Amino acid sequence: MALDARTTALATESALPTRQATPTTPAPSTIPTTIPLATLADPKVIIDSYDAFLFDCDGVLWHGDRLVPGAKDVLAALRAHGKTVMFITNNATKSRAEYKTKFDKLGIAAEPTDIHTSASATARYVASVLKLSEQPKSKAYIVGMEGLETELRDAGVETIGGSDPAHNPSTTTPPDLTDVRADFDDKVGAVICGLDTRVNYLKLARAFVYLQDPNVHFVATNLDATYPHSAGLLPGAGSVSAMLRYSTKREPLSIGKPSSAMWDAVRVSSKLPQGRTLMVGDRLDTDIAFGKSGGVGTLLVLSDITPANAPDYVLNSVADLLSALQG
Ligand SMILES: [Mg+2]
Repeated sequence: MALDARTTALATESALPTRQATPTTPAPSTIPTTIPLATLADPKVIIDSYDAFLFDCDGVLWHGDRLVPGAKDVLAALRAHGKTVMFITNNATKSRAEYKTKFDKLGIAAEPTDIHTSASATARYVASVLKLSEQPKSKAYIVGMEGLETELRDAGVETIGGSDPAHNPSTTTPPDLTDVRADFDDKVGAVICGLDTRVNYLKLARAFVYLQDPNVHFVATNLDATYPHSAGLLPGAGSVSAMLRYSTKREPLSIGKPSSAMWDAVRVSSKLPQGRTLMVGDRLDTDIAFGKSGGVGTLLVLSDITPANAPDYVLNSVADLLSALQG
């Protein structure tokens, strides 16, 4: 690990001033609060140690359409220093082309080839690993948004459901559930579930019906419980698929971070410098786990996702406190 610190703070003092200055419980008298129990990560060490920086987006670079202050300048400066910058997001609601438009709007230079989403990785997996379009049951039933449909169709996968108005009835009247099996398509060989802000009972019931066949693949773009919207934390893709997981007693193959399928998608198109790649994210269970599983460096930044649960300090062992007590 390049961050050569037995003791590493999760945040800078400026990010968490009140935690450091006004602890909610008095420090034991034997440990004066002026003794720093944690050493802060040195940003220069991080910059010098890595040549490729993989950024999560939501909660790291932006919250909804609101850029994190300084994020744009950091990306530009990294590139000015000759660093490779890539973007790896579990957000499957946009295609890479739509992401490119979002990057353009925010004033961040990015090409679609710099961007990997759980939608693009899912499309690659379904088209290249499952080879769904070559199977007798070649269609995918979608619980998800247009971005996922676009990536799948661009990869040659025929989709139904998703954003089709016939699968998104008015919510002012209950759907006629006799329709659930009426339009059953026996060519459906996979149910693919991502974040779907139009999610409704009829669509989930249709997905449930397809999943009754154990030969129908169950794929999730990602299993994030929540995601940081500009309106605050909201239920994520994993919360949408939870109803299907509960009702079918089946677990989907999840493609997004921390899955190795996401690494397959990244590495098939990009050669990353061995030992000098850093994953930057705001979730331990996706971003950091992804980085660890891929054998690259990891950097956690705090966001709406983390602060409620983030500790003030991280130690390798409780024994690390001894040096402060004996000093
Ligand atoms: Mg994030």
